[in-house]
Amino acid sequence: MVIPPEFDDASITLSVVIPIYNEEANLGYLFERVLDSLQGLNISYEIICINDGSRDRSLEQLIEYHVKNPSIKIVNFSRNFGKDIALTAGLDHACGAAVIPLDADLQDPPELMGDLLEKWRQGYDVVYATRRDRQGESWLKRASASNFYRLLGRVSQVPIPQDTGDFRLMDRRVVEALKQLPERNRFMKGLFAWVGYRQVAIEYDRNPRHAGQSKWNYWQLWNFALDGITAFSSIPLKVWSYLGLGISLVALVYAVFLVIRTLISGIDVPGYASLMVAVLFMGGVQLISLGVIGEYLGRVYEEVKGRPLYLVRDLYGFEGKPHPNLDPLSRSDGGGKG
Ligand code: UDP
Ligand code: MG
Repeated sequence: MVIPPEFDDASITLSVVIPIYNEEANLGYLFERVLDSLQGLNISYEIICINDGSRDRSLEQLIEYHVKNPSIKIVNFSRNFGKDIALTAGLDHACGAAVIPLDADLQDPPELMGDLLEKWRQGYDVVYATRRDRQGESWLKRASASNFYRLLGRVSQVPIPQDTGDFRLMDRRVVEALKQLPERNRFMKGLFAWVGYRQVAIEYDRNPRHAGQSKWNYWQLWNFALDGITAFSSIPLKVWSYLGLGISLVALVYAVFLVIRTLISGIDVPGYASLMVAVLFMGGVQLISLGVIGEYLGRVYEEVKGRPLYLVRDLYGFEGKPHPNLDPLSRSDGGGKG
């Protein structure tokens, strides 16, 4: 396996990766706390902020912070691509010997980075932080999350730790492994688990959001759950053959019974209710199974199109290291409307 990459900035120990989507109300406090924690650690660091198509003043603010402190670097996406893809871009651009993704809303306490680093120095490749509780989340979100992770744990081939977000420390070799995964459906929690390596958990209390609102509504959470299950299990595709087999067996037995009964006691026309029930039930089962196939097929279609995962509009702080996604013929006139 190819490991050592173009990791020319060997001087950087820790890269902190922060996906940012409309977080103007959090940035000031975020950098205050992150920089405080990092300075206390006495290591070389970089902070990679991915501006995921924010529509507020997040980018302008980020640029101001970048000018004041060049270790704050910015990857500015061409539009909103979603948090998992933002994280992927962060990993692509990070050059630290260890990488920690962090939410911009301060739900993950930056002060914990010291503990993560300590475990890493003991020789672990992944140190993930497990939430002791989920403050500030509605019972519905908590209940649905816990059911989802229980289901995912049952059906997936790799064990995906419960109550674990993206807040974790990854060694360079883990980051390189993640960079080799080509899929467009980036269900990061699953991918983190899939790569393996020496993993260890530490516990923490997850805080409520500092300011602003979570970007997730229930429809998005539902689709997120579907992404997770389809990416890590093909059981939903396979159950239908067994269900069909079961129903066919029952139908066969019933058919034999009907034939014999008709032979013995003659034709008996009534049976509207049982007919309707059977037809509607089978119609429903077939539509559900088709829908499940559709969920997979749609995702296969996304994958085979082979579009780039994300497009970068500008980079700040990566001088001399142009990203392959950056258009080499980029216009110098600042562009117009498209
Ligand atoms: N985020 C992002 N792109 C998106 C949605 C969210 O980069 O399309 C970022 C967001 O700015 C934050 C992190 O992902 O830093 C977590 O988002 P959020 O707090 O909304 O998610 P939750 O904590 O509710 O899972
Ligand atoms: Mg949050």
